[in-house]
Amino acid sequence: MKFATFFVFIIAALHGEILETAHFKDLSQHASSSTLIVLDIDDTLLVPTQTLGTDVWFLYQLDKNSSAPDPLDKTLAQWEAIRHLTEMKIVEEGSDKIVSELQSKSIRVMGLTTQGIALATRTVKQLLSHNIDLSKTAPNKEDHYFLNGHGVLYRNGILFTGGSPKGPALAKLLDRLGYRPEKIVFINDKKSHLLDVAKTMETIGIPFTGLRYSYSDARVASFRPEIAEIQFHHSNFSKILTDEEAIALLESHESP
Ligand SMILES: [Mg+2]
Repeated sequence: MKFATFFVFIIAALHGEILETAHFKDLSQHASSSTLIVLDIDDTLLVPTQTLGTDVWFLYQLDKNSSAPDPLDKTLAQWEAIRHLTEMKIVEEGSDKIVSELQSKSIRVMGLTTQGIALATRTVKQLLSHNIDLSKTAPNKEDHYFLNGHGVLYRNGILFTGGSPKGPALAKLLDRLGYRPEKIVFINDKKSHLLDVAKTMETIGIPFTGLRYSYSDARVASFRPEIAEIQFHHSNFSKILTDEEAIALLESHESP
């Protein structure tokens, strides 16, 4: 066994299995009546209809704000303002039906996002507008608020961690609810979040499978900051420019 292979094997053994998953429907293969299915939201269920406000834009903007007194705070404020205004779309067509199918089999399903509390009501409404109601078979119907470094809110079957790590936040929620699933399956586009939850589940002894969802990778890789800049500077409270409108404006600026 090569050293690199051995290392990957050790990581997998420590943190449960993490599998690459191209399509949301693959989630169904991992669900059973004793499984808690946990769904990331951004770039997994929903994404803004334009470049501005996406996760990849957030990272770009964070870098751009690096000389601000608190770059993360400033970027989060800008991101949340945009997320209150933007329309969202489903990342992969049919994902809403997969969620409904799992719920119709009474399989426990919930959401887990690093979004802040300020976005909770907006995100719940945006999901509902795309026929996704994560409260249906969630572990609990009540609101729960607690601290995980930052304030964390569980509402309508979604845990909003306010930028704090997902693993400890989920463990604290399960503990508060007195609910211990036989297994957790978590689908997320970011491997770092899967590893974080895997590590926590290892600590508390709940078997874990992470699905690293790659459907958004191509869009993320083709991110064009100049489009986001046009949208950032030429949009207003009633309308955010679409990518097509931003490209047209960009080209009109570039033409002699
Ligand atoms: Mg995500």
